[in-house]
Amino acid sequence: MELIYILTYDCNFRCKYCDINKKNNSITNEIIDKSFDLLEKNDILIDKVKFFWWEPLIRKDYIKYIVNNFPKKYSPKYYVTTNSTLVDQEFMKFVLDNWINITFSIDWDKNTTWTNRVLINGENLSENIIENVKKYAKFIRVNQVITSKNSSEFFKNFKFIYDLWVRKFNFLPEYYSLWSKKWLINLQKWFQEIKIFLDNWNFFELINLDNFSQTSFYNLWIVIDTDWSIYPTNLILSWKFEKYKDILKIWDVNIKNKIKENSIKKIYNEINKIIDKEYSIEILKSVKYTDLILNNFCNEFTMKK
Ligand code: SF4
Repeated sequence: MELIYILTYDCNFRCKYCDINKKNNSITNEIIDKSFDLLEKNDILIDKVKFFWWEPLIRKDYIKYIVNNFPKKYSPKYYVTTNSTLVDQEFMKFVLDNWINITFSIDWDKNTTWTNRVLINGENLSENIIENVKKYAKFIRVNQVITSKNSSEFFKNFKFIYDLWVRKFNFLPEYYSLWSKKWLINLQKWFQEIKIFLDNWNFFELINLDNFSQTSFYNLWIVIDTDWSIYPTNLILSWKFEKYKDILKIWDVNIKNKIKENSIKKIYNEINKIIDKEYSIEILKSVKYTDLILNNFCNEFTMKK
């Protein structure tokens, strides 16, 4: 089972396309300690601990605290996803010393990054982002987000990142938005282009192969929130589903009883019901098609190995 800590609802960026609500509140040491107590007395197998959404490196101190003090009966893999601008030598040393998987989310080449990514004060750090990718290319994974609007540039953008020496890619087609037939054909075409690129003795690791989810994008994970709440799914991380927090919240970090894995699994039907209610049939169909294209690519990639 995967565990996510929401470290903060804040971010140093105000990307033009980002609709995540930002607030200036963070988790506390008290909540983290209580979560450790809870895990100590429970038998749920935690194999992955993740820090992502908003900008977790705003609270590097909590990442270090959690990694250094996580209950010893577990030995999870750790994952951090960041916009990369707050990475420094000291933090990268910590990442490497503790075998943490670090993912940089970047917006393709410099011009696209320049257009989308701005700091709170309007300043643009696209040079800084590209420099960081280049500097740490050997150690990082990259999330390459493919939207319906940039799918025609997908291969070009992939090649740009590859030429910075990144060799671990996670392809993220934009889920839960409308993809026209033309855009889907584009998406398929550019995945074909990547396959041809691989046929020509090029190599990279496909991180998508590590991730499996029964429901596209939304999973059964344990999410520990900054207000002591615990949710059994990452659904609540999306602003669209914030209104379902009351229904989906099933515990609090102070809970006395043991957490039952079955009670987490039961929420699966609830997740599907909410998704069906909130999205149109056309969007749900788009999700199926993008998933199918990505899965086909993953299968062919596996066969090549
Ligand atoms: S870095 Fe991520 S969380 Fe921050 S504004 Fe940009 S997209 Fe949103």
